Amino acid sequence: MKQLPNYIKKENGDYWLTEDERENLKLSYRIKEIIYQEKSPFQEVMIVDSYDFGRMLVLDGVVQTTSMDGYIYNEMITHIPLHFHPHPKRVLIIGGGDLGAAREVTKYDQVEKIDLVEIDELVVQACKKYLPEVSGNLSDPRVQFIYQDGVEFVKNRKNEYDVIIVDSSDPVGPAKQLFEYDFYQNIYQALKDDGVMVCQSQSPIFHFDVLKQTYKHIRSLFPFTSLYMATVPTYPGGLWSFTLGSKKYNQLVQKPFDKQTNYVNEEILHKSFYLPEFVRRKLNEI
Ligand code: SAM
Repeated sequence: MKQLPNYIKKENGDYWLTEDERENLKLSYRIKEIIYQEKSPFQEVMIVDSYDFGRMLVLDGVVQTTSMDGYIYNEMITHIPLHFHPHPKRVLIIGGGDLGAAREVTKYDQVEKIDLVEIDELVVQACKKYLPEVSGNLSDPRVQFIYQDGVEFVKNRKNEYDVIIVDSSDPVGPAKQLFEYDFYQNIYQALKDDGVMVCQSQSPIFHFDVLKQTYKHIRSLFPFTSLYMATVPTYPGGLWSFTLGSKKYNQLVQKPFDKQTNYVNEEILHKSFYLPEFVRRKLNEI
């Protein structure tokens, strides 16, 4: 067996994975089994089987997605932008190596091509093999896998995509630049004239600084910007935010929601833009 990283400890015969969220907050999960552990050039990639959340993808000690609640995040980051654009054909996903977002996008017959730009091929391989509840063993021919830094990839794209989904990890390491202004400027250029983008913009409770900065960047570039939310038990604070930027459309397409899902439905689609009062107040101050 490989050497355990310092965020996994054995106590009284049990493994505990502890995510070091911030100075005064650590989250611990009791683990049944370490299924996969490998160091890539970018991060330590693990798939573990936990008692309460089932199998989880863990990158450098941070839980990314789980078989118990991964669908909430993945459905929210895809179906909302895909219902903001009336005829999405070309979709770009940046990050998203667990394939949960790509899997949701393949539910749209009108989508012709999905480019998935993930920096770390090992994440995709591990999730395909050991996390099928999230990845769905994705083998749709419309998905093109591009193993490259998303920051570099978007620099050379102009007017290509209808929808861009930034499904990134937290703003540290290779994902840091995915939260910066220059990156969103390139995203804007990579979109067609009526394109729509979305990114995960962290917790309004614990990471309002990141949310604020992301929202400001997107609002300064796109004529229409909006925040929406979902509750994801795995993420610190539970409440999670997504920021959407749109070049032309300013509301969801008025058509029935007809996809097979576990979280998103017609009501969620529309009501997730209703924000809690403290978030509204803080956004108004930006
Ligand atoms: N749903 C998850 C969350 O919010 O924690 C994140 C999903 S996904 C696992 C995030 C992916 O982004 C990781 O696989 C990571 O390798 C990838 N990533 C990080 N920085 C990147 C970059 N600069 N370009 C492309 N992919 C990147």
